[in-house]
Amino acid sequence: MRVVQKYGGTSVADPERMRSVAEQIARTHRRGDEVVVVVSAMGKETDELLRLAEDVAGGDRPGREMDMLITAGERKATALLCIALHAMGVPADSFTGSQAGFLTDTNHTNAKILEVRPDRVAEALASGRVPVVGGSQGVSTERDVTFLGRGGSDTTAVALAEALKADACELYTDVSGVFTADPRLVPDARKMAHVSFDELLEMTAAGCPKPAMRSVEFARNHHVRLHVRSSFTWEVGTWVTEEETMEQAIISAVVDDDSEAKVTIAGVPDRPGIAATLFRRLADAHVNVDMIVQNVSEDGVTDISYTAPKDDLRTSLEITQALADEIGATGVTSDAGIARVSVVGAGMKSNPGVAATMFETLAGNGINIEMISTSAIRISCVIAADQLERAVVVLHDAYGLGS
Ligand code: ASP
Ligand code: MG
Repeated sequence: MRVVQKYGGTSVADPERMRSVAEQIARTHRRGDEVVVVVSAMGKETDELLRLAEDVAGGDRPGREMDMLITAGERKATALLCIALHAMGVPADSFTGSQAGFLTDTNHTNAKILEVRPDRVAEALASGRVPVVGGSQGVSTERDVTFLGRGGSDTTAVALAEALKADACELYTDVSGVFTADPRLVPDARKMAHVSFDELLEMTAAGCPKPAMRSVEFARNHHVRLHVRSSFTWEVGTWVTEEETMEQAIISAVVDDDSEAKVTIAGVPDRPGIAATLFRRLADAHVNVDMIVQNVSEDGVTDISYTAPKDDLRTSLEITQALADEIGATGVTSDAGIARVSVVGAGMKSNPGVAATMFETLAGNGINIEMISTSAIRISCVIAADQLERAVVVLHDAYGLGS
């Protein structure tokens, strides 16, 4: 078997965790499997490096230097892990993203992989050694060090698994798999044995933080078998599979997200081009708009609401207010006290009543719905943030997801 094992920041947060991870790698190696390791920066190191840059120069952050800085976190982790492996008698070599053959574009702090040529990684494997690759990094077409963005180590692992034709890609983290709801909110949330790529993609888009959405997309497109599991208990986790299982549950999971805010522009003249202008300007400012609702117009005016990341609220408000002034809209308001609860399940495609159950459950608990959006396998409702926890609990119960 050939396996790629990716260890996240919490998995290697301190020397003891580092040794525990090295032991697992050693076990895999001694079993006769070929193992390639991808590692994130230790603990909260990426955040700390970002803070250091801020302390040195405030908001002025040249991309090339930021990437040199941030990738140092992963580089340090690869070397330490190899040192731990050597102490256990396991031959291991550390590689930066560049050495491992990750060629990227020049989009610093959020580079995209163009090609993976893992010759040195393959050579290390062929000579019986364990390659340990720094996650989330590469070298650009301009030969500068690049960072693949937050959560990019998952993508590094999946891309390596595909390039090396690995049998599986194991993503080790601090939870034991993918759950039917956040176990911190719902005590009887269950770990799923399997989840389909389509469902997991919808879950990550709806706010499920791990694994990183980009890596799930890559794995789906390239048929990489993913196994999301814990480096704390080492138990079997959740397999992400191509196939939907035979008895497809109507609803597989409830997902919560409180990272977005809502902006409303009221009294908008109802004529072609206004939504086009607003959302083009937001896009040009890199605001990632999520839900959009436009009301039925009355007396030639309407209103438009949208949600966007809280981090982008200031920019969103400035852009929306400027447009409101230009077109004579009556006002712009925002609400950062909203949240989104979503239900996801491939089985809803062929079953009526899923939305009705969701709305009835929320209504029965006195939870008002402010916005609704759907895909083929997801229904999302925007509600008040202070009712989010309760919404997740009652929906998880209403669809019978508990253990
Ligand atoms: N250490 C980086 C981050 O926290 C990359 C990663 O862990 O995937 O975003
Ligand atoms: Mg991380």
